[in-house]
Amino acid sequence: MYLNDLTWEEVRDYLTGKDGLIIPMGICEQHSRHLPLATDTLMAEYMAGYVAGATGVLVAPTFHYGVGTPCDRFFAGTTSISYDDLRNTVSSLISVWAGQGFKKFLLMSAHGDPIHLQALRDIEHEGVYVLELFALDVKDILEKQTHVKHADEGETSVMMYLFPERVRTNRIEDFETPEEVFKESLFHENTDPITGSPGCEGYPSYATKEKGRRIVELMKENALEWVRGCLAE
Ligand SMILES: [Zn+2]
Repeated sequence: MYLNDLTWEEVRDYLTGKDGLIIPMGICEQHSRHLPLATDTLMAEYMAGYVAGATGVLVAPTFHYGVGTPCDRFFAGTTSISYDDLRNTVSSLISVWAGQGFKKFLLMSAHGDPIHLQALRDIEHEGVYVLELFALDVKDILEKQTHVKHADEGETSVMMYLFPERVRTNRIEDFETPEEVFKESLFHENTDPITGSPGCEGYPSYATKEKGRRIVELMKENALEWVRGCLAE
């Protein structure tokens, strides 16, 4: 069920039995030459819909913006908000909902930027729970990588499985940022574009639909367990 589809009376009735609200956290960010800017948003929305269907928890309208790495801002279309803006805006939204009886705010993000996640974790004391969807052990699923990076073997596999029509397979290319620059970029210390990068980090040419299916199964299992755990607290 989606909050925006209900009337205020229907939401009030929901609150007589439940107090949870799932919020899909998106971002408008380049995902190399082969995936759309909405990639992380689409995956968060998909998983929010899945756990909502399994638990009956309402899904809030997607929050479409987040904190991205400075070096991604050179790619057309990408945008970002600041740490404080993300933290304060989400906090404002939930404080109004909290006043009506919502108590648990389940934020799901496929965007794994550490600064983005920290901004959300900063408000955990307000009943906010944060799930990083790709924080999974996928080393036995992936061939070329040990964990999921960006527009890579992992993310591209998931997109091939969930939204095949959105993957420009003929535009896939691999790219690995030199280790030193990668860490600086990840933690936003490097603000320059990465030389020669098409926008991905890793090996999307190794992506397959079957790997995507296995990752999605794992993600679903993990997300469901997480939601049930949060609700039980
Ligand atoms: Zn992504």
